[in-house]
Amino acid sequence: MNLYKKCILCPRKCMVNRYTNKGFCNLNSKLLIALAKPFFYEEPPISGINGSGTIFFSGCNLKCCYCQNMEISKFNKGKYITITRLAEIMIELQNQNVHNINLVTPTMYIPSIIKAIKKAKEMGLKIPIIYNSSGYENVEIIKLLDGYIDIYLPDFKYYDDSLAIKYSKANNYLINAKLAINEMIRQTGPCIFDQNGLIVKGTIVRHLMLPTLTNDTKKILKYLYETYHDNIYISIMSQYTPNKYITFKELKKPIKAKDYDEIIDYAVNLGITNAFCQIGKTVSESFIPNFNYEGVNKKRN
Ligand code: SF4
Repeated sequence: MNLYKKCILCPRKCMVNRYTNKGFCNLNSKLLIALAKPFFYEEPPISGINGSGTIFFSGCNLKCCYCQNMEISKFNKGKYITITRLAEIMIELQNQNVHNINLVTPTMYIPSIIKAIKKAKEMGLKIPIIYNSSGYENVEIIKLLDGYIDIYLPDFKYYDDSLAIKYSKANNYLINAKLAINEMIRQTGPCIFDQNGLIVKGTIVRHLMLPTLTNDTKKILKYLYETYHDNIYISIMSQYTPNKYITFKELKKPIKAKDYDEIIDYAVNLGITNAFCQIGKTVSESFIPNFNYEGVNKKRN
């Protein structure tokens, strides 16, 4: 089945032929990427000492008004590459001694990514592969990744669907995220770390706290812990940084330290121990990469 011909790669199910048209994500069937380099701002078991070999795909199937990477997610800044080139990039990152290959916002390109992973493995790719996404996934498509992905790193952004519609223009976020995350955990099993504390298999669910939405955050934490207990890690992120495009008044400020503390206390009281939290001042544009196409083109000798 050619999945680009009647695209249902994400829950929007636009059914467009991406060889000739574009759907909601405004992407055709060609791989478009903006950056491929070691990245050091992920959770410690992912970044380690040498960094995570991060490949930033352009475009997104969500339209989060607070996105930090608008340059690539909304304006689709990027360069077209072939499937073979994507496989080569994975090998080049491995040669830089990164701990893993980190596919960021890969949802819209899954058929090409599967082919690239197969090629890269034939070329000698050995390190774990991370699927790093918004959580707004079509579970039937996530099932196709079984055996290709070692670590899933999905967001769980909202519990209340009205928030997903308001801030990310996404219908039915909750059920799609729940089903997708459930399938991801089924594929990976519980988290496994190597002797250096690096994750080699498992699922880490990320939640970026948004200003004024502590109740929604609590619902997500409660759901995840009551459903998966210690089989997953939860990353509770405080780094929300308002961007210049935001029109919603409540999102124009960082989250309050007291709200983050309240959430950490809540998580501890629930019994969550497998968690990552952010300490100190994390509101910073330094988390935002410079999308300068580094690593995209083949270096000429
Ligand atoms: S990836 Fe999602 S948003 Fe993009 S065309 Fe396919 S179904 Fe539509």
